[in-house]
Amino acid sequence: MSTSENIGSAAVQDTDTATAQAPDWNRIRMDFPLLTRAVNDKPLIYFDNANTSQKPVQVIAAVDSFYRNQNANVSRAVHALGSEATDAYEGARNKLARFMGVRGDALILCSGTTFAINLVAYAWALPNLKPGEVILVSRMEHHANIVPWQLIAQRTGARIQVAEILPDGSLDLEALYKAMTPQVKLLAITHVSNVLGTVNPVREICRAARKAGIVTVVDGSQAAPHLPLDVAAIGCDFYAATGHKICGPTGTGALWGRRELLQAMPPFIGGGEMIKEVSFEHTTFNDVPYKFEAGTPNIAGFVGLGAALDYLEGVGMAAIRAREAELLAHLTEELNRIEGLRIFGTAPDKAAVVSFLIEGAHAHDLATLLDLEGVAVRSGQHCAHPLLQYFGVAATLRASLAFYNTHEEIEDFVAALHKARALLG
Ligand code: PLP
Repeated sequence: MSTSENIGSAAVQDTDTATAQAPDWNRIRMDFPLLTRAVNDKPLIYFDNANTSQKPVQVIAAVDSFYRNQNANVSRAVHALGSEATDAYEGARNKLARFMGVRGDALILCSGTTFAINLVAYAWALPNLKPGEVILVSRMEHHANIVPWQLIAQRTGARIQVAEILPDGSLDLEALYKAMTPQVKLLAITHVSNVLGTVNPVREICRAARKAGIVTVVDGSQAAPHLPLDVAAIGCDFYAATGHKICGPTGTGALWGRRELLQAMPPFIGGGEMIKEVSFEHTTFNDVPYKFEAGTPNIAGFVGLGAALDYLEGVGMAAIRAREAELLAHLTEELNRIEGLRIFGTAPDKAAVVSFLIEGAHAHDLATLLDLEGVAVRSGQHCAHPLLQYFGVAATLRASLAFYNTHEEIEDFVAALHKARALLG
């Protein structure tokens, strides 16, 4: 393990300074052990990063070391292990707050974006929305940012309204601003689309919403892996992120919320850790963020996430953004050369996610044949049924890249795609 750790630490550089050299991407790739395996006797090409990212050896080592050396529950014991585990867990909260560009005290740790959005739905929207009021969501939302609002709408009598997109997969901003009427109480919007790759101008959108008195929830699941985050500058009310897409373990994530809103909200889940005092008649709740963190959290997962954030900070999110822009341009250019191939999502500002279809070939058939060539891409509706309905298609193939992917992989992927297409006739 120490060899790879050395490789990782030697490879990362301070890329945010003007004088820094570009990171050594080939060496960085060597930190990801899974990328060296074969699938169906072919070298793996992992282009399903929007689904979940791979983990560097530093993250795997941090989780391993936690269980070997520090494992104990957080905040419940005065013994040495208990306080070490608590420090490690709280350390991860601070690192995540820094990564997201927020102050740590309003950052709730949870299992991921799905939990974070449900927390806002049940603890803010359920008690606050009234019949006839509107929850505005965009056409390009993941089901995690649609279904919780539908459940709340059913219980409150509020209704869902959809902010539409333009054919290139960007938001129709004019229509969105027009839709911000006095009935709208909440806007739930993704920062980056998991299907189209579109980067939404969330700062501008949240400013307009705030002027209109609308509470904003930004789904940052697909932004956190690709962009330097500055949640404070976005000016939203809530921002949700998930750890497994930023090289951390599954079951980790966070919700940032404005302190005054969080303080006024009732707890979402009840249990240990979220209380100050309990009697059979009455409970006083803990302060924010602990009020929303009932039960034993995924401690080892957050220790791993802390290591992932150190790793990403070492590489530099600005460098990652630039690297992925290069990879995206290469992939898009190669795909555009293929006759009968249609890309869904061609907005000017995109993250490295490309959804596409090839005339005459079903997405699932292509994905199955690509798997035989060692290529992992996702096919289907990507948890975004309403978006695919807009484009009138039942499924797409999605190739989603990360900084550890290579130009050679893009070329091999395109060759595998040609082969698969030929087999389908
Ligand atoms: N929102 C978006 C845009 C996503 O891409 C995803 C996962 O793919 C989610 C929400 C849900 O994230 P999780 O399952 O980690 O909670």
